[in-house]
Amino acid sequence: MWQLYPLNFGEWPEFELSRFLYNKGFGEKIRAIATGFLAVDGDRAVLIDAGIYDEDRALSDHDQWVVGTGPGQVRTELARYDLEPEDITDVVLTHLHWDHAANVPLFTRAQVHIQDDEIEYAENPLPPHQVSFDHGLSRPAPWTLVRDRINTLHGDTELFPGMTAYHLPGHTPGSQGIKISTAKQSYLLAGDNVDLQANWDGDEHLRHRPGMVYVDMRDYWASLLRMESLADVIVPSHDPSVFDREVY
Ligand SMILES: [Zn+2]
Repeated sequence: MWQLYPLNFGEWPEFELSRFLYNKGFGEKIRAIATGFLAVDGDRAVLIDAGIYDEDRALSDHDQWVVGTGPGQVRTELARYDLEPEDITDVVLTHLHWDHAANVPLFTRAQVHIQDDEIEYAENPLPPHQVSFDHGLSRPAPWTLVRDRINTLHGDTELFPGMTAYHLPGHTPGSQGIKISTAKQSYLLAGDNVDLQANWDGDEHLRHRPGMVYVDMRDYWASLLRMESLADVIVPSHDPSVFDREVY
């Protein structure tokens, strides 16, 4: 049985809400978290998403103000569970945006699981999407430094008993949600198709409210509807409420 823990890889103290909520929240600022998850079952220790750059690189390459980030914060969070990066056997990346993949080279012994559609798009994104994928910057995208350890997934794939990757395109072409069954119930770590709980809960106009950052809204909407039947609980990627509990 998996044990599932949320990890805080740092935060945006003032994030523009409208980037998370389609056509809503203009000018409102919220606190957003770069969330990772640690899933442990016996000798296997799986990390879902690898956190963001340190403050300087986030500012210089991505023009974003973040605090408490970078590889040091990843180590600190893992140490709470008596783990070092070398203990992580597998890293699953929900997608290849910089704020989910930045520290993947830290995990020198892990196999890295990514959808094939995501790799294909990250190699050649449309110009408006290039920076988010670290494409065309002075430093290479971190995931390209671990190519020899990537396990390329093609669509829905059972990774391990009780853990399945679902291909859920929309936010990016190869976004994947990771379903993990614990003793309590099943959770879908939704990646950035669901940034906040408010995306999933929707409102009087929309049963789910997508985010503002996406590649294909038709795919995105279909993925949101599909997620309704995939797990007991949908877990957002950037919502501070994720940390209301210490274990899932
Ligand atoms: Zn993203």
